[in-house]
Amino acid sequence: MNFGITEEQELIRRTAAGVAERLLAPRAAARDLAGTFPVEELRELATLGLLGVAVPEALGGAGAGAIAYSLAMQELAKADASVAVAVSVTNMVAELIAKVGSPAQQQRFVPALVSGKAVCGAFALSEPQAGSDPVAMTTQAVRHGDRWRLTGNKAWITSGDRAGVLVVWAKSSPPGPDAGAKGITAFLVEGGAPGLSVGRLEQKMGLHGSSTASLVLDGVEVGDDAVLAGVGGGFRLAMMALDGGRIGIASQAIGIARGALEGAVRYAKDRTQFGVPIIQHQAVGNMLADCATWLDAATLLTLRAAHKKELGQPFTREASMAKLFATEHAGKICDLALQVHGGYGYTHDFPVERAYRDVRVTRIYEGTSEIQRIVIARELLKQ
Ligand SMILES: Cc1cc2nc3c(=O)[nH]c(=O)nc-3n(C[C@H](O)[C@H](O)[C@H](O)COP(=O)(O)OP(=O)(O)OC[C@H]3O[C@@H](n4cnc5c(N)ncnc54)[C@H](O)[C@@H]3O)c2cc1C
Repeated sequence: MNFGITEEQELIRRTAAGVAERLLAPRAAARDLAGTFPVEELRELATLGLLGVAVPEALGGAGAGAIAYSLAMQELAKADASVAVAVSVTNMVAELIAKVGSPAQQQRFVPALVSGKAVCGAFALSEPQAGSDPVAMTTQAVRHGDRWRLTGNKAWITSGDRAGVLVVWAKSSPPGPDAGAKGITAFLVEGGAPGLSVGRLEQKMGLHGSSTASLVLDGVEVGDDAVLAGVGGGFRLAMMALDGGRIGIASQAIGIARGALEGAVRYAKDRTQFGVPIIQHQAVGNMLADCATWLDAATLLTLRAAHKKELGQPFTREASMAKLFATEHAGKICDLALQVHGGYGYTHDFPVERAYRDVRVTRIYEGTSEIQRIVIARELLKQ
């Protein structure tokens, strides 16, 4: 494995770091308090190619690959994890359509997503009774003449109320014995489509600048041209997209944790107790040393998964390992970074408090840690 970062990858990383520092970081605390959705920020990130980092240039993307995407995501999340998650889902949706969509679907949806014209993308898989087990979904796609009619409820959809393009999964199997995973189809739906409405917006512990919506589909009509990757191919498609998405969430967790750790090191050098900077107390130094080691290990696992993805090799196991390790350890890092700040860490005066809240969900979405372990164990069984 080559650990060298190419000039192009470094350029993307620097671009993301620059805009994160200039545009995202200064407004992150206010966005968290007010819960405002980052419309303008997404528009500006689009102009820099950050909504389609691994999308081919022919479709308006940066064509830079999975490693560059991971590096960019780390920088954005370090400044504001809420913006990063909207960016992550948009990249995932754009990449998916670019990879498996028909030429007409690619032309219609991908440039709109990566240019920011569609604001952002949404990935509508989960339902109130179908989270870790998406095959249990009940949203139905029923054939009416030469059209499909989608009816059901989606839950937890990141940017679901804002997205101009949504991938919506539904059961398309005819009445009769349930076809299970093979009875699921993915459909491309435009934001504002008749019959599509927002049920409610979740009040969350963190990621306040990201909206999380439940969606009601009440007979949303689409044609065959909305079917993504064939009738019955939806489950496989979702799993494929989530493999890539997990690199994004691992990167998001790394970015949040890196911001928290850098803040903790700065604080531990400044803060004096018992006559010395607290970093000189071995217990504090040990916490920071553990955090730095976990962070590097998480980064290497994530870049390995991204590298395998770029090579076109199977990377399911590597993506799940990266997500499991990075998100679990990012949680520990944010916890210890807060501890290093003492009482001040428990206030809004330091960004570590927001990092502690924002990082928690990375262990839950795009497959919980328990599901990642199942995926890894299943891959081990195949060896
Ligand atoms: C802020 C946020 C944003 C989200 N964004 C999106 C989005 O954009 N699109 C989307 O489709 N979904 C989204 N989700 C949904 C997310 O992917 C689900 O919450 C997640 O998959 C878990 O599903 P669940 O919440 O129904 O929990 P459940 O599946 O009910 O799980 C509850 C607990 O049981 C455990 N568990 C379940 N099954 C097993 C098993 N077989 N073995 C061991 N343990 C198990 C889980 O690990 C968990 O600890 C989002 C969620 C949140 C909180």
